[in-house]
Amino acid sequence: MTTTAFSAADVQDMVATRRDLHAHPELAFEEVRTSGIVAEKLRALGLEPRTGVGKTGVIAMLQGARPGRTVLLRADMDALPIHEENDVPYRSGTPGKMHACGHDCHTSILLGVAKRLVSERDALAGTVKFCFQPAEEVGGGAEAMIKDGALAAPAPDAAFGLHVWQDLDLGKIGVTPGPMMAAVDEFTVTVTGKGAHAAMPHFGIDPVVCLAQVVTALQTIASRGVSPLSAVVVSVTQVKAGTAFNIIPESAWMNGTVRVFDEALWETLPARFERIVRGVCDALGCRTEIRYQRSNRPTVNDPRMAAIARAAAVEVVGEENVVDDVRTMGGEDFSQFLARVPGCFIAVGSRNESKGLKWDHHHPRFDVDEASLEIGAEILRRAARRFLES
Ligand SMILES: [Zn+2]
Ligand SMILES: [Zn+2]
Repeated sequence: MTTTAFSAADVQDMVATRRDLHAHPELAFEEVRTSGIVAEKLRALGLEPRTGVGKTGVIAMLQGARPGRTVLLRADMDALPIHEENDVPYRSGTPGKMHACGHDCHTSILLGVAKRLVSERDALAGTVKFCFQPAEEVGGGAEAMIKDGALAAPAPDAAFGLHVWQDLDLGKIGVTPGPMMAAVDEFTVTVTGKGAHAAMPHFGIDPVVCLAQVVTALQTIASRGVSPLSAVVVSVTQVKAGTAFNIIPESAWMNGTVRVFDEALWETLPARFERIVRGVCDALGCRTEIRYQRSNRPTVNDPRMAAIARAAAVEVVGEENVVDDVRTMGGEDFSQFLARVPGCFIAVGSRNESKGLKWDHHHPRFDVDEASLEIGAEILRRAARRFLES
């Protein structure tokens, strides 16, 4: 790794903040302590943070010495309802809550970047908007901040964010032009037939047989309905019906998720889904009730912004350590910013098998190699400066 703009004390600061946030996890829209710390640290830098943006979000603006464009840098702050199983000094002090995705890292990284950029103000042309977002995990945090004016004047011309990434070894960086993470849709279907004695099915209409066929037919969305070169996942994850072995129930219920990268395809999926469910239910004489909800839209990186992020990453970790095809069917609500502002979401390798730091995001033993904080911060800092100078 190249030398970064961060001193040993800066790095220690980032690690200490990360550990403090890790020990005090707060769930979506409850990030009161976290956002309080963020605001306090921003004030200590001489900035004037606006708090309560999208309930618990914080925004601060750094005006460079010269006029120019505006770049938004975003970190998320929320934790997950998971009980931590790591035995570390900074282990979660709240039973049942844990920073198991690394948002504690993102918050401390962005605070580190803010500190650095404030000290570089004389060399800056334009404005940096620091955006600390609540509630990424349940979705809605980005949207809440945007509704509350996160993109209002000065409107950002570019947006960058990052995520520590356990699928990548420490020192590797993922910058993917185009779609990077999937849209997240959720469906719930209730199929109603007519209850009967299990021995006399002809007196009823069996919703269990019907639902079974619905589950199977839905698999054709991915296998027959779209190009084999397009990625779509339809997963039925919960199925519930019945009360006894000898009763055909009145109704059956299921719930699950649809994931897709392509935005045009995403638009067509609710209608396809509904056509299949209604068609099968009609054929078998059942009534159906469908709830199809959008959560995250696809996370799509702008190719020009990805090129800026990539150049920054190459400077920090070297050409050979920058990967351009890090993609996952997981979702991310930074997508809400990217749908309105050209930008790039950067994956920062944080896995280190030799230290046992190999557990995936959302796992009770999730933890990162903290050396990723300095790397991530330096790339974010350089991406912001590159954009403002470009
Ligand atoms: Zn997560
Ligand atoms: Zn996350």
